[in-house]
Amino acid sequence: MTTGHDVIVVGGGAIGAACARELARSGRSVAFMDPDSDDGPAWRAAAGMLAPEIETRETDDPIVALGVAGRDRLAVLAERLKESIGADIGLWQEGIAHAAFDEADETRLRAQVAHQRQQSLHVDWLDAEEAKARWPWLGPARGALWAPAGGGVDPQRLVQALRADAVRLGATLIPDRATAIERHGDRVAAVHGKARHPAGDVVIAAGAWSGLLEGLPRPLAVAPVRGEMAALPAPAGIGRAIVYGKGAYLVGRDDEVTVGSTMDYAGFRNEVTAAGLARIFAGASQICPALARLPVTRTWSGLRPVSADGLPLLGADPSLGGLWYATGHGRNGILLSGITGVLIRQLLGGEPTVIEDLSAFDPGRFWQW
Ligand SMILES: Cc1cc2nc3c(=O)[nH]c(=O)nc-3n(C[C@H](O)[C@H](O)[C@H](O)COP(=O)(O)OP(=O)(O)OC[C@H]3O[C@@H](n4cnc5c(N)ncnc54)[C@H](O)[C@@H]3O)c2cc1C
Repeated sequence: MTTGHDVIVVGGGAIGAACARELARSGRSVAFMDPDSDDGPAWRAAAGMLAPEIETRETDDPIVALGVAGRDRLAVLAERLKESIGADIGLWQEGIAHAAFDEADETRLRAQVAHQRQQSLHVDWLDAEEAKARWPWLGPARGALWAPAGGGVDPQRLVQALRADAVRLGATLIPDRATAIERHGDRVAAVHGKARHPAGDVVIAAGAWSGLLEGLPRPLAVAPVRGEMAALPAPAGIGRAIVYGKGAYLVGRDDEVTVGSTMDYAGFRNEVTAAGLARIFAGASQICPALARLPVTRTWSGLRPVSADGLPLLGADPSLGGLWYATGHGRNGILLSGITGVLIRQLLGGEPTVIEDLSAFDPGRFWQW
Protein backbone atom coordinates (compact mmCIF):
# COMPACT_ATOMS: atom_id res chain seq x y z
CA MET A 1 0.00 0.00 0.00
CA THR A 2 1.29 3.52 -0.77
CA THR A 3 0.84 6.05 1.99
CA GLY A 4 0.19 9.65 1.04
CA HIS A 5 2.07 12.79 2.00
CA ASP A 6 0.91 16.32 2.65
CA VAL A 7 3.52 17.53 0.15
CA ILE A 8 5.75 15.93 -2.45
CA VAL A 9 8.67 17.99 -3.73
CA VAL A 10 9.82 16.85 -7.18
CA GLY A 11 13.60 17.31 -7.13
CA GLY A 12 16.18 17.20 -4.36
CA GLY A 13 18.73 19.64 -5.77
CA ALA A 14 19.54 23.05 -4.32
CA ILE A 15 15.94 24.22 -4.51
CA GLY A 16 14.07 20.97 -3.88
CA ALA A 17 16.16 20.04 -0.83
CA ALA A 18 15.72 23.54 0.65
CA CYS A 19 11.94 23.38 0.09
CA ALA A 20 11.68 19.87 1.58
CA ARG A 21 13.62 20.97 4.66
CA GLU A 22 11.49 24.06 5.28
CA LEU A 23 8.22 22.20 4.68
CA ALA A 24 9.28 19.39 7.04
CA ARG A 25 10.21 22.03 9.65
CA SER A 26 6.63 23.27 9.55
CA GLY A 27 5.34 19.87 10.68
CA ARG A 28 3.92 18.67 7.36
CA SER A 29 4.46 15.14 6.14
CA VAL A 30 6.88 15.66 3.25
CA ALA A 31 8.59 13.50 0.66
CA PHE A 32 11.08 14.66 -1.94
CA MET A 33 11.96 12.68 -5.03
CA ASP A 34 15.33 12.66 -6.76
CA PRO A 35 16.96 9.96 -8.89
CA ASP A 36 20.35 11.42 -7.85
CA SER A 37 21.81 10.76 -11.27
CA ASP A 38 24.86 12.55 -12.56
CA ASP A 39 23.31 13.71 -15.85
CA GLY A 40 23.94 17.40 -15.30
CA PRO A 41 22.14 18.76 -12.22
CA ALA A 42 23.24 22.36 -11.84
CA TRP A 43 24.11 22.03 -8.14
CA ARG A 44 26.82 19.49 -8.91
CA ALA A 45 28.49 21.93 -11.32
CA ALA A 46 27.91 25.28 -9.61
CA ALA A 47 30.65 27.64 -8.49
CA GLY A 48 28.67 28.54 -5.37
CA MET A 49 29.09 32.31 -5.56
CA LEU A 50 26.73 34.56 -3.63
CA ALA A 51 26.82 37.63 -5.84
CA PRO A 52 23.47 39.46 -6.02
CA GLU A 53 25.08 42.87 -6.63
CA ILE A 54 26.92 41.49 -9.65
CA GLU A 55 24.44 38.97 -11.10
CA THR A 56 22.06 41.74 -12.12
CA ARG A 57 21.02 42.22 -15.72
CA GLU A 58 19.45 45.65 -15.57
CA THR A 59 18.65 48.57 -13.29
CA ASP A 60 16.05 47.66 -10.67
CA ASP A 61 16.33 43.93 -11.40
CA PRO A 62 14.11 42.20 -8.78
CA ILE A 63 16.74 39.47 -8.50
CA VAL A 64 18.98 41.82 -6.47
CA ALA A 65 16.64 42.20 -3.46
CA LEU A 66 15.74 38.50 -3.58
CA GLY A 67 19.44 37.65 -3.82
CA VAL A 68 20.41 39.80 -0.85
CA ALA A 69 17.66 38.09 1.19
CA GLY A 70 18.98 34.77 -0.14
CA ARG A 71 22.50 35.52 1.05
CA ASP A 72 21.25 36.54 4.48
CA ARG A 73 19.24 33.35 4.67
CA LEU A 74 22.28 31.20 3.79
CA ALA A 75 24.21 32.80 6.65
CA VAL A 76 21.43 31.69 9.03
CA LEU A 77 21.29 28.25 7.43
CA ALA A 78 25.06 27.81 7.78
CA GLU A 79 24.69 28.14 11.56
CA ARG A 80 21.55 26.01 11.79
CA LEU A 81 23.00 23.18 9.72
CA LYS A 82 26.15 23.20 11.82
CA GLU A 83 24.11 22.99 15.04
CA SER A 84 21.64 20.36 13.83
CA ILE A 85 23.82 17.91 11.91
CA GLY A 86 27.34 19.28 12.26
CA ALA A 87 27.50 20.19 8.55
CA ASP A 88 29.89 22.82 7.23
CA ILE A 89 28.54 24.33 3.99
CA GLY A 90 31.75 26.27 3.43
CA LEU A 91 30.23 29.74 3.73
CA TRP A 92 32.61 32.66 3.38
CA GLN A 93 31.84 36.32 2.82
CA GLU A 94 35.02 38.17 2.01
CA GLY A 95 33.71 40.12 -0.96
CA ILE A 96 33.35 39.80 -4.73
CA ALA A 97 34.77 42.09 -7.42
CA HIS A 98 33.80 42.73 -11.02
CA ALA A 99 36.84 44.10 -12.84
CA ALA A 100 36.57 46.36 -15.90
CA PHE A 101 39.07 45.77 -18.68
CA ASP A 102 37.79 48.32 -21.19
CA GLU A 103 36.14 51.72 -21.22
CA ALA A 104 32.64 50.40 -21.92
CA ASP A 105 32.76 48.03 -18.93
CA GLU A 106 34.20 50.76 -16.71
CA THR A 107 31.35 53.13 -17.64
CA ARG A 108 28.71 50.45 -17.10
CA LEU A 109 30.12 49.22 -13.77
CA ARG A 110 30.64 52.76 -12.41
CA ALA A 111 26.97 53.48 -13.23
CA GLN A 112 25.98 50.22 -11.52
CA VAL A 113 27.87 51.25 -8.37
CA ALA A 114 26.17 54.68 -8.35
CA HIS A 115 22.72 53.17 -8.83
CA GLN A 116 23.14 50.38 -6.29
CA ARG A 117 24.44 52.79 -3.65
CA GLN A 118 21.21 54.76 -4.10
CA GLN A 119 19.37 51.50 -3.33
CA SER A 120 21.38 51.26 -0.07
CA LEU A 121 23.43 48.34 -1.34
CA HIS A 122 26.98 48.19 -0.06
CA VAL A 123 29.13 48.49 -3.20
CA ASP A 124 32.22 50.58 -3.95
CA TRP A 125 34.29 51.50 -6.96
CA LEU A 126 37.98 50.65 -6.65
CA ASP A 127 40.26 52.52 -9.05
CA ALA A 128 43.03 50.71 -10.95
CA GLU A 129 45.68 51.26 -8.22
CA GLU A 130 43.36 50.11 -5.42
CA ALA A 131 42.39 47.00 -7.37
CA LYS A 132 46.02 46.14 -8.15
CA ALA A 133 47.02 46.66 -4.52
CA ARG A 134 44.29 44.28 -3.37
CA TRP A 135 44.92 41.65 -6.06
CA PRO A 136 48.56 41.93 -7.30
CA TRP A 137 47.94 39.03 -9.72
CA LEU A 138 45.10 40.93 -11.50
CA GLY A 139 45.49 41.73 -15.22
CA PRO A 140 45.37 45.31 -16.59
CA ALA A 141 42.05 46.34 -15.03
CA ARG A 142 40.79 49.94 -15.18
CA GLY A 143 39.09 49.46 -11.80
CA ALA A 144 36.49 47.21 -10.22
CA LEU A 145 33.07 47.14 -8.66
CA TRP A 146 33.56 45.81 -5.13
CA ALA A 147 30.74 44.13 -3.17
CA PRO A 148 32.19 43.39 0.29
CA ALA A 149 29.25 41.22 1.44
CA GLY A 150 29.69 38.83 -1.51
CA GLY A 151 31.14 35.39 -1.01
CA GLY A 152 30.47 31.76 -1.59
CA VAL A 153 29.43 28.36 -0.31
CA ASP A 154 30.31 24.83 -1.35
CA PRO A 155 27.19 23.87 -3.38
CA GLN A 156 27.63 20.12 -3.02
CA ARG A 157 28.06 20.31 0.75
CA LEU A 158 25.07 22.68 0.92
CA VAL A 159 22.75 20.31 -0.95
CA GLN A 160 23.89 17.22 0.97
CA ALA A 161 23.39 19.10 4.26
CA LEU A 162 19.92 20.36 3.25
CA ARG A 163 18.92 16.82 2.27
CA ALA A 164 20.24 15.32 5.50
CA ASP A 165 18.55 17.95 7.64
CA ALA A 166 15.26 17.54 5.76
CA VAL A 167 15.38 13.82 6.55
CA ARG A 168 16.29 14.54 10.20
CA LEU A 169 13.18 16.75 10.34
CA GLY A 170 11.03 13.88 9.12
CA ALA A 171 11.03 14.21 5.31
CA THR A 172 11.34 11.06 3.21
CA LEU A 173 13.80 11.04 0.33
CA ILE A 174 12.42 8.88 -2.49
CA PRO A 175 15.32 7.87 -4.74
CA ASP A 176 13.31 7.95 -7.96
CA ARG A 177 12.59 10.13 -10.98
CA ALA A 178 9.07 11.58 -11.10
CA THR A 179 7.45 11.02 -14.47
CA ALA A 180 3.94 12.48 -14.19
CA ILE A 181 1.56 14.55 -12.11
CA GLU A 182 -1.88 13.04 -11.57
CA ARG A 183 -4.83 15.35 -11.10
CA HIS A 184 -8.24 14.74 -9.68
CA GLY A 185 -10.66 17.40 -10.92
CA ASP A 186 -9.07 20.79 -10.33
CA ARG A 187 -6.49 19.57 -7.77
CA VAL A 188 -3.29 17.54 -7.86
CA ALA A 189 -3.71 14.03 -6.52
CA ALA A 190 -0.37 12.23 -6.83
CA VAL A 191 3.08 12.06 -8.36
CA HIS A 192 4.06 9.05 -10.42
CA GLY A 193 7.50 7.50 -10.58
CA LYS A 194 8.14 3.78 -10.30
CA ALA A 195 5.27 3.93 -7.80
CA ARG A 196 2.29 6.24 -7.33
CA HIS A 197 2.73 8.73 -4.48
CA PRO A 198 -0.50 10.44 -3.35
CA ALA A 199 -0.02 14.04 -2.20
CA GLY A 200 -2.10 17.02 -1.15
CA ASP A 201 0.38 19.50 -2.64
CA VAL A 202 3.16 19.07 -5.18
CA VAL A 203 6.15 21.42 -5.56
CA ILE A 204 7.92 21.31 -8.93
CA ALA A 205 11.65 21.81 -8.24
CA ALA A 206 13.30 19.55 -10.79
CA GLY A 207 15.62 22.21 -12.21
CA ALA A 208 16.07 22.15 -15.97
CA TRP A 209 13.98 18.96 -16.11
CA SER A 210 10.91 20.55 -14.52
CA GLY A 211 9.03 20.97 -17.79
CA LEU A 212 9.44 17.31 -18.82
CA LEU A 213 6.88 16.03 -16.32
CA GLU A 214 3.72 14.69 -17.90
CA GLY A 215 0.42 16.05 -16.70
CA LEU A 216 1.54 19.63 -16.12
CA PRO A 217 -1.38 21.91 -16.98
CA ARG A 218 0.67 24.01 -19.42
CA PRO A 219 4.16 24.17 -20.95
CA LEU A 220 6.77 25.42 -18.50
CA ALA A 221 8.95 28.32 -19.68
CA VAL A 222 12.16 26.80 -18.25
CA ALA A 223 15.01 25.64 -20.50
CA PRO A 224 18.37 23.98 -19.81
CA VAL A 225 21.28 26.40 -20.22
CA ARG A 226 24.64 24.69 -20.12
CA GLY A 227 27.48 26.07 -18.04
CA GLU A 228 31.02 24.78 -18.46
CA MET A 229 33.74 25.09 -15.82
CA ALA A 230 37.44 24.27 -15.36
CA ALA A 231 39.88 24.03 -12.48
CA LEU A 232 43.59 24.83 -12.25
CA PRO A 233 46.12 24.92 -9.44
CA ALA A 234 46.01 28.28 -7.67
CA PRO A 235 48.77 30.69 -8.75
CA ALA A 236 50.90 31.87 -5.83
CA GLY A 237 49.27 34.49 -3.62
CA ILE A 238 45.73 34.23 -4.99
CA GLY A 239 44.21 32.82 -1.78
CA ARG A 240 40.46 33.19 -1.45
CA ALA A 241 39.09 35.55 -4.05
CA ILE A 242 36.17 35.90 -6.44
CA VAL A 243 36.65 38.20 -9.42
CA TYR A 244 34.40 38.58 -12.46
CA GLY A 245 35.76 39.89 -15.75
CA LYS A 246 34.56 40.00 -19.34
CA GLY A 247 32.45 36.88 -19.94
CA ALA A 248 34.21 34.87 -17.20
CA TYR A 249 34.89 34.67 -13.50
CA LEU A 250 37.52 33.21 -11.26
CA VAL A 251 36.98 31.65 -7.84
CA GLY A 252 40.13 31.09 -5.75
CA ARG A 253 39.66 28.56 -2.96
CA ASP A 254 42.77 27.53 -1.06
CA ASP A 255 44.96 25.57 -3.47
CA GLU A 256 42.63 25.55 -6.48
CA VAL A 257 41.13 28.11 -8.83
CA THR A 258 37.90 27.38 -10.66
CA VAL A 259 36.98 29.39 -13.73
CA GLY A 260 33.68 29.66 -15.56
CA SER A 261 31.30 29.83 -17.15
CA THR A 262 29.41 29.61 -20.41
CA MET A 263 25.67 30.13 -21.02
CA ASP A 264 24.70 27.88 -23.92
CA TYR A 265 21.25 26.78 -25.08
CA ALA A 266 22.25 23.26 -26.18
CA GLY A 267 19.27 21.24 -25.03
CA PHE A 268 20.10 18.51 -22.51
CA ARG A 269 23.63 17.98 -23.91
CA ASN A 270 25.67 18.12 -20.74
CA GLU A 271 29.19 18.23 -22.14
CA VAL A 272 32.37 20.26 -22.09
CA THR A 273 33.27 21.76 -25.47
CA ALA A 274 36.44 23.22 -26.94
CA ALA A 275 34.58 26.41 -27.87
CA GLY A 276 33.22 26.78 -24.34
CA LEU A 277 36.62 26.31 -22.73
CA ALA A 278 38.21 28.74 -25.20
CA ARG A 279 35.76 31.48 -24.14
CA ILE A 280 36.28 30.76 -20.44
CA PHE A 281 40.08 30.80 -20.67
CA ALA A 282 40.11 33.98 -22.77
CA GLY A 283 38.14 35.77 -20.06
CA ALA A 284 39.85 34.12 -17.09
CA SER A 285 43.38 34.82 -18.27
CA GLN A 286 42.47 38.48 -18.75
CA ILE A 287 41.49 38.49 -15.04
CA CYS A 288 44.65 36.61 -14.01
CA PRO A 289 47.28 36.33 -16.79
CA ALA A 290 49.28 33.75 -14.78
CA LEU A 291 46.49 31.20 -15.36
CA ALA A 292 47.43 30.86 -19.02
CA ARG A 293 50.62 28.95 -18.13
CA LEU A 294 49.02 26.50 -15.69
CA PRO A 295 47.79 22.94 -16.37
CA VAL A 296 44.03 22.37 -16.44
CA THR A 297 43.25 19.77 -13.78
CA ARG A 298 39.50 19.24 -14.23
CA THR A 299 36.62 20.30 -16.48
CA TRP A 300 32.90 19.78 -15.97
CA SER A 301 29.51 21.14 -16.90
CA GLY A 302 25.92 21.38 -15.69
CA LEU A 303 22.49 22.48 -16.85
CA ARG A 304 20.93 25.56 -15.29
CA PRO A 305 17.15 25.93 -15.23
CA VAL A 306 16.59 29.26 -17.01
CA SER A 307 13.17 30.84 -17.45
CA ALA A 308 12.06 32.89 -20.44
CA ASP A 309 12.70 36.19 -18.60
CA GLY A 310 15.59 34.98 -16.45
CA LEU A 311 13.65 35.20 -13.18
CA PRO A 312 12.55 32.23 -11.08
CA LEU A 313 9.02 30.86 -10.98
CA LEU A 314 7.87 30.96 -7.36
CA GLY A 315 4.27 30.29 -6.50
CA ALA A 316 1.06 28.53 -7.35
CA ASP A 317 -0.18 27.27 -10.67
CA PRO A 318 -2.96 29.64 -11.74
CA SER A 319 -5.54 26.89 -12.21
CA LEU A 320 -4.49 23.53 -10.78
CA GLY A 321 -4.97 23.56 -7.01
CA GLY A 322 -2.07 22.21 -4.95
CA LEU A 323 0.51 22.60 -7.73
CA TRP A 324 3.44 24.91 -6.90
CA TYR A 325 6.53 25.96 -8.83
CA ALA A 326 10.00 26.57 -7.40
CA THR A 327 12.16 26.51 -10.48
CA GLY A 328 13.88 28.65 -13.12
CA HIS A 329 16.59 30.01 -10.78
CA GLY A 330 19.07 30.25 -13.64
CA ARG A 331 22.50 31.48 -12.58
CA ASN A 332 21.53 32.08 -8.95
CA GLY A 333 19.89 28.97 -7.55
CA ILE A 334 22.57 28.33 -4.92
CA LEU A 335 22.25 31.91 -3.69
CA LEU A 336 18.44 31.65 -3.74
CA SER A 337 18.06 28.14 -2.34
CA GLY A 338 17.44 28.98 1.32
CA ILE A 339 15.11 31.92 0.71
CA THR A 340 13.14 29.89 -1.85
CA GLY A 341 12.53 27.20 0.78
CA VAL A 342 11.22 29.82 3.20
CA LEU A 343 8.96 31.43 0.57
CA ILE A 344 7.50 28.12 -0.56
CA ARG A 345 6.75 27.13 3.04
CA GLN A 346 5.03 30.47 3.63
CA LEU A 347 3.09 30.33 0.35
CA LEU A 348 1.81 26.81 1.01
CA GLY A 349 0.77 27.88 4.50
CA GLY A 350 -1.08 30.95 3.19
CA GLU A 351 1.15 33.13 5.40
CA PRO A 352 2.61 36.57 4.65
CA THR A 353 5.91 36.13 2.80
CA VAL A 354 9.26 37.59 3.91
CA ILE A 355 9.50 39.25 0.48
CA GLU A 356 6.15 40.99 0.33
CA ASP A 357 5.85 41.51 -3.41
CA LEU A 358 6.48 38.30 -5.34
CA SER A 359 4.65 39.41 -8.50
CA ALA A 360 7.86 39.47 -10.59
CA PHE A 361 8.25 35.75 -9.86
CA ASP A 362 4.59 34.75 -10.29
CA PRO A 363 4.52 31.62 -12.50
CA GLY A 364 1.30 32.93 -14.09
CA ARG A 365 3.21 35.77 -15.81
CA PHE A 366 3.97 33.51 -18.77
CA TRP A 367 0.42 32.26 -19.23
CA GLN A 368 -1.85 35.03 -20.38
CA TRP A 369 -4.05 32.79 -22.50
C1 LIG B 1 28.43 25.92 -14.24
C2 LIG B 1 27.43 26.49 -13.28
C3 LIG B 1 27.84 27.44 -12.34
C4 LIG B 1 26.90 27.96 -11.43
N1 LIG B 1 27.34 28.85 -10.49
C5 LIG B 1 26.45 29.34 -9.58
C6 LIG B 1 26.88 30.22 -8.58
O1 LIG B 1 28.06 30.55 -8.48
N2 LIG B 1 25.94 30.72 -7.69
C7 LIG B 1 24.63 30.36 -7.76
O2 LIG B 1 23.82 30.85 -6.96
N3 LIG B 1 24.19 29.51 -8.72
C8 LIG B 1 25.07 29.00 -9.63
N4 LIG B 1 24.64 28.15 -10.61
C9 LIG B 1 23.21 27.92 -10.74
C10 LIG B 1 22.67 26.91 -9.74
O3 LIG B 1 23.48 25.78 -9.73
C11 LIG B 1 21.23 26.56 -10.11
O4 LIG B 1 20.45 27.73 -10.25
C12 LIG B 1 20.62 25.67 -9.03
O5 LIG B 1 21.38 24.51 -8.85
C13 LIG B 1 19.18 25.32 -9.42
O6 LIG B 1 18.71 24.45 -8.44
P1 LIG B 1 17.55 23.41 -8.81
O7 LIG B 1 17.37 22.57 -7.60
O8 LIG B 1 16.40 24.16 -9.38
O9 LIG B 1 18.16 22.56 -10.02
P2 LIG B 1 19.35 21.52 -9.96
O10 LIG B 1 20.44 21.98 -9.07
O11 LIG B 1 19.68 21.19 -11.38
O12 LIG B 1 18.69 20.24 -9.27
C14 LIG B 1 17.59 19.60 -9.88
C15 LIG B 1 17.42 18.26 -9.19
O13 LIG B 1 16.22 17.67 -9.67
C16 LIG B 1 16.48 16.30 -9.92
N5 LIG B 1 15.53 15.86 -10.94
C17 LIG B 1 15.56 16.07 -12.28
N6 LIG B 1 14.48 15.52 -12.88
C18 LIG B 1 13.75 14.96 -11.89
C19 LIG B 1 12.54 14.23 -11.87
N7 LIG B 1 11.86 14.01 -12.99
N8 LIG B 1 12.09 13.75 -10.69
C20 LIG B 1 12.77 13.98 -9.53
N9 LIG B 1 13.94 14.68 -9.50
C21 LIG B 1 14.42 15.16 -10.65
C22 LIG B 1 17.93 16.22 -10.35
O14 LIG B 1 18.47 14.93 -10.12
C23 LIG B 1 18.56 17.32 -9.49
O15 LIG B 1 19.11 16.80 -8.28
C24 LIG B 1 25.54 27.57 -11.49
C25 LIG B 1 25.16 26.60 -12.41
C26 LIG B 1 26.09 26.05 -13.29
C27 LIG B 1 25.65 25.00 -14.26
